[in-house]
Order: sequence, then C-alpha cells, then structure tokens
Amino acid sequence: MTSFAGQPQARPQAQTGSPAATIDWARVRADFPLLQREVNGKPLLYFDSANTGQKPASVIETVDMFYRRHNANVSRAVHTLGSEATEAYEAARAKLASFTNVRADDLILCSGTTFAINLVAYSWALPRLGPGDTILLTRMEHHANIVPWQLVAARTGVTIKVAEITPEGALDLDALYAALTPDVKLLGLAHVSNVLGTVNPVREICREARRRGIVTVVDGSQALPHMPVDIAAIGSDFYAFTGHKMCGPTGTGVLWARREHLDAMPPFLGGGEMIKEVRFDGTVFNDAPHKFEAGTPNIAGHIGLGAAVDYLSSLGMANVAAREAELLAHFQEELRAVEGLRIIGTAPAKAAVVSFLLEGTHAHDLATLLDLEGVAVRSGHHCAHPLMQFFGVAATCRASLAFYNTHEEVERFIAALHKVRKLLG
Ligand code: PLP
Repeated sequence: MTSFAGQPQARPQAQTGSPAATIDWARVRADFPLLQREVNGKPLLYFDSANTGQKPASVIETVDMFYRRHNANVSRAVHTLGSEATEAYEAARAKLASFTNVRADDLILCSGTTFAINLVAYSWALPRLGPGDTILLTRMEHHANIVPWQLVAARTGVTIKVAEITPEGALDLDALYAALTPDVKLLGLAHVSNVLGTVNPVREICREARRRGIVTVVDGSQALPHMPVDIAAIGSDFYAFTGHKMCGPTGTGVLWARREHLDAMPPFLGGGEMIKEVRFDGTVFNDAPHKFEAGTPNIAGHIGLGAAVDYLSSLGMANVAAREAELLAHFQEELRAVEGLRIIGTAPAKAAVVSFLLEGTHAHDLATLLDLEGVAVRSGHHCAHPLMQFFGVAATCRASLAFYNTHEEVERFIAALHKVRKLLG
C-alpha cells in the first residue's frame, strides 16, 4: 500500500493564495461537527480556539480510520499493517515539514509545545549552561516557555532575565536588543502571545540574536493556527508548536531544530525506537529525529495532524489569516463600544485573540454567565502569570476566534455580553 487506504481527504475549498473572499466560509464551518451543537439550550458560540481548536470531520475520520483499518505500531513490525502505519506516520511528518518549509528529518514529533521546550531545556541547555550565563525570556511567555528554564536555572546556576513589553502589549524591541548582552546564551520568545494576540517580529529578533551568537527558541503554538509560518525564513535555532490548536488531535506537536543542534544534543528520553544497537556496555543511538522519539508515539494523533495540515493547506493559510483579520477587526470594534470594557493587548500586529475585563466583574463570573448563553471563552491567568502581574490583574476573559467563526457570531457574542452586563447591574 502506498497511500493510507480510505483516508478521508480534505475537501479543497480554494487554491493557496486565492483571496479569502472567494471561499465559502459557511461551508467551511459546516466541516466542523462540534460547532453544530447547543450549550445550555443555546447554539454554541465557540470563542476559545486559542485554548484548543475544533476539528474538521476529515481529521476525526482520519483518526477513526486509522484505528478501524490500519492500527499497528510504527517502525517495528514488517507486516502489512506495520508498514501502513509507519508510512502514514512518516507521511504526516513530511506534510508538517512542507507546511512549515523545513526538512522532515529535522522535525521531532512529540506531545506538544510543552514537551518540545522541555526537550530543548534538558537536552540543549542543561549540559551547556552554567553560572554566569543568562537565559532571556519575554514578559509575554506562556508558562511552557518559562518553567522549563527555571528548572534548568535551579540545576545550573543560570540567571533568568526578562525582556519587557510596552503598555500596549508589544515587545519593547530597543530594550530587548539592549538586553542581548554577551552573557545571554538563549532567548525564548513567543511568535504570537496567547493572551494579547501580539504577533512578534520573530524573524528580525532571531536575526539580531544570531548575530550575537545567541540561540533562539520560538514558541509557535499560537502562530500556526492563524498564519502562514515559514520556519526556515524565521531563522531561529528551535521552533516548537502544538497540534491541537491547529485543527489536529490533542497530544501532538513538533519541535524543529537546526541540524547542528540535533546532531550535537544527547537524547532526552531513552527507550525503544531511539536506538541503533543496545548492549549492556553501551548503546548506539539512532539518528535524529528518531534519537528524540523514544517509545511508542501518538501514531493516530500525528496521522490526524497530517490530515489537519491537508485541511489547512486546502484553505490556504494566507486566506485563513485574511479571514481572521476581518473577524478580529469587527470584533474589536464592537467590543470597544461596550461600556466599562477594557481590552488588554492593543499592539498593532495582532492575531484573533482578545483579552478583556469588564469593570466591576471578575473574569470567572463573566465567563460563567457567558456560558449560560452558550458562549465559550476562557477566563483566568492563561498560563501567563508574569503577564498578569505586568497588567496588575489576577485574571482576564479571553475570546479567541478562528476562521470557522462568523460575523453573525461576533454580533451574538456582543448581545450576550450586554445581557450579562445588565444582569450584573
Ligand atoms: N505556548 C503557548 C503560547 C500556548 O498558548 C500553549 C497552550 O496554551 C502552550 C505553549 C502549551 O501548549 P501544550 O499544552 O499543547 O503543550
């Protein structure tokens, strides 16, 4: 078998690069079964895609099909099912590579961004860094790009410093570049903030860091779902992302690394799959990426993520970005007209993620009352305590949109918000 027999194909909606206006977005929305359901007797308004994205039928059916027809372990069995599973798994890696413009052999498939950044922390940073070295992190990092470095610091004596942001929630680039001093060995930065939606100029920042010999770790979790991402053009040393925010199954993700790092880094976890030969007097490791993929991976999940890549490619990420920019402009305009509402994060370059507070109301109360109206938003610290500390708040409400949302939903969201506001007096 050369193809994943019976694998559902994403229905082509448009050619990559064609204008978003030519896509029938209502039909696209119909590809997502869950969006048809009701919550609390109201049609669901899913505005929590930054938390996890909904899945098109083609992804759900691909995972279903794998377990119904092809289920076997990868890279071990020589029987037909084993080679079908391996072929489909490696095909998913190849799709992810071409989607992000890198070589498939430089992509490690893993459980998500959290795992990916921990891999870099333990395998790249731990053996290399020590007292006198600094890790620079931006104020807007998710805990997944903070805590692993703190664990490294606790074991090595490395210092952690912070690159600050402006009150609008953009990176203060002058301060950032001034902070790239010779003691800085690693810079960790988000491509897109999960709280503010700010899109950081990662290409320019990575170029500046590289000129100074500083290794860069870019957290792309919130970028991949919203825009075309060309990892090769960004020029970082490491780029991590998670599959479940980009229409893929949970427990899937990617770490891309420059080849020189992959070859030089020791394995993170030991076990099956990551070896060439094991003897009691020593083990010869496999080549990267397999050296970093110990144990049975999330086979069905990554094959499903490959289907998500097919689906997003059929839409065209430039079209997705254009569609979401329209929805965001509409949404922010409506929100600004709501009395007592404060948007947190107003940088000019923004993805469709909006944090806000309603005067006199706790974010959790607001989210709970919105849920009664069928509206799903996230409330809390969004795994970004240092950012909450910067804005002097304990929590925010966060509404995050995807291309499958509609202008009508934006209107309904605002109506629900007004209703809740009245209820709260
Ligand atoms: N980084 C950012 C910016 C995120 O938004 C998230 C998820 O919310 C993560 C990292 C962690 O992703 P995962 O839990 O899939 O590892």
